Parts: sequence; C-alpha cells; structure tokens
Amino acid sequence: MTTPRVNFYVPSAELVDLGPLPQDFRKWNRILQVIADVSLSIADDIYMAADTHRRDIADSEESQQFLQSCLFYREAFLDGPLTHAELLLRPHLAEFKVIGVKTTTMGEFMTTVRDTVKRLDRAIRLFREGYTKNAWGLKVQIPTRGMRVPSASPNQLLFEFLLKPIGAPTQRQKEFLQQLRGMGRGGIMSIAPRRTFTGQKVEQGLPSMYEVAVINNRLVLGAADVYWGKAKSLYREAKDTTRRMRDYRLANIQEQALRAFRHLRAKEQQAQSQPGSEVVRRRVAIRQMSVDNAHISGNVRVRQAFTPAEWEAALPCYFCQGMMGCEAAVEFSNEDKDVELTKVKWEIRGEYAHSCAELEVQLKAQAL
Ligand SMILES: [Zn+2]
Repeated sequence: MTTPRVNFYVPSAELVDLGPLPQDFRKWNRILQVIADVSLSIADDIYMAADTHRRDIADSEESQQFLQSCLFYREAFLDGPLTHAELLLRPHLAEFKVIGVKTTTMGEFMTTVRDTVKRLDRAIRLFREGYTKNAWGLKVQIPTRGMRVPSASPNQLLFEFLLKPIGAPTQRQKEFLQQLRGMGRGGIMSIAPRRTFTGQKVEQGLPSMYEVAVINNRLVLGAADVYWGKAKSLYREAKDTTRRMRDYRLANIQEQALRAFRHLRAKEQQAQSQPGSEVVRRRVAIRQMSVDNAHISGNVRVRQAFTPAEWEAALPCYFCQGMMGCEAAVEFSNEDKDVELTKVKWEIRGEYAHSCAELEVQLKAQAL
C-alpha cells in the first residue's frame, strides 16, 4: 500500500466567472461586499506575516505557497470578478446601491470595493519587495487559468509557515496547545485585527475551523472549508471553487472518511433501540467505533480545534469524536460537551464525511 499524501497543489486552477449581468444588477452587491471583506482580510494576513517576522522571510516552501495563494485568491476571487463587474455595471453607476435609500450610489460603492483590492495590492507589493530576498526570482508568478496553484487558503498557509519554526515541544504538549488560544495571549504570535470598513468582524475568506496537533513532535495544522458568507451574503462561485480545491487536497482520505462516517451512523442507529437520551446513544456509538475496523487512527498525540478569526478553542464535533476519537486538549465543562455531542445532524452533513479540519490532520499523520 502506498502512503497517502496531501495534494498540496491543484494542477489546474479555476478562476471565478460571474457571467452576464443579472436582470436585477443589485444581486451582485453581496458578492462585491464579500470581495471587499476578503481583500481586507488577506491584506491583514500579509501585514501580520511582515510584522511577525520583520526581517527577511525565508524562501521556504510554506512562505512561497502563502504568496502564491494570495496572488491566486486576488486573481480568481477578487480582482478578476471585480474587473468584470465594473465593466458590466458601468451603465448603472449613478443609481443607488439600495433601492429607495439615497445615500450611496453604485459608483461610490464600486470605488470603495476597488480601494480594498488596492490595499491588498499594496500589501502584496510590500511582502514581495520588502520582505523577500529578490522576490524569490521568478518562482512566484501571476496565476492564470489552468496554472498549478496551492490547494490551501492564504490564511491557512500563513499559519503553516508561522507555526513551522515554532515546532512542537517534547513535553507538556497539551499545555502548549492550550496556549495557542487567542494566540497573542500565549506570546507565540499575535492575530491581526480583522475588521471590515464598517467595523465588523471578518470571517470570510478564512477556513471555518482549524485544528492543531502534535504528531511525531511536529506541529501539524488542518483546516475545514473556506467560509464565504452566510446564506444571504454567500459568494457561491468562490465557495464552490475553494471546496473543489480542498476536496482535491484531501482526496487521499475521502474514502476512509466516508467508510468511518457510515459505520458511525450504523452504530448510532443500532443504539436507537436502547433506552436513554441522544447524548447517551451517541456516547455508546463513539465507544463502539473506537474498536471498529473503520475507525481512523493514527499517531496524533494531542490535538485542539480553534476558530480562525480569534483562535478560540473549540470542541471536536460528534463525527470527529466517533470517526477518529478526537478529544480536546483544552478543558471544557460536561455541559458544553453534551451540547456539542448533539449539535451536528446527519441530514445537514449529507454524505460529506471529510468536511472537518481534523481529517486533514489525520491525512498528514498518515503521510508522515
Ligand atoms: Zn468534526
């Protein structure tokens, strides 16, 4: 059997195509808003990378991937679609952004969005010219359709290369992971404040969850799907593309994940006939899965999930507890644990068994 590997690159990049202008041109406004928020968020990432290192950033695989991914996101999800929208919206620039609200015109709105992409461009230029030796020659290129690009988001790749030199301690590993909470408080690195120009917290363009684990005394990071907004503001074109990229990244663990997922579901169904609450039944299923041949095991010693915007500790979901035996390194109350256990629903997850960050960690554990 060959060792499963993470597909760190997607061989042929896709760029988002917004297509023709919708009948109601304001339908694009939510996408344009996400473009603005994500441009600011990636610019924040670059400034954080620059601030944290201050000196030249090493020409490492991780830092190159980070810059390549920033350039790719700019092209595929931000500047490319924005340029297209600017062209098609030209006849509507004098109209109001919201019907009946005579404050902002489409023209003013478009200028604000364009300014966020300009801020991102300044950040990219600073990183390439100010913090890298000779901009690493010609190794980093402007991505085009069909080009090979990193399969992870800029935010994940930023933390990949920030965590790498820290390395994992050989002792007190649980305590070490606990200290990553809030990042800044642990003194390990500080998180750049992510705020939109209206002052709201930015989560778009970041993975929806992270997990950090210690494997063979190395720190390993896994990420869930990239978040592109709630139902009403969702940038679907970008979400579908980044999901396909992540699916490709995790291709070598999907079959195993689906098998474990189905076995867990069968165990829970068997437990239905027994008395007790849903929490009790799910606990029984987790226990039975731990000795099932579909259980995904590996040499992951300690692990902890984190929310990407603030790096707050999170509990592993029921599926991860059942499929992989995940436990948090941080202490949670029994009440919190019970609530978490019944939060995820089979109907909502469908057959998408590898959506959690924990699966990427598990794949990396198998590949090491
Ligand atoms: Zn999970």
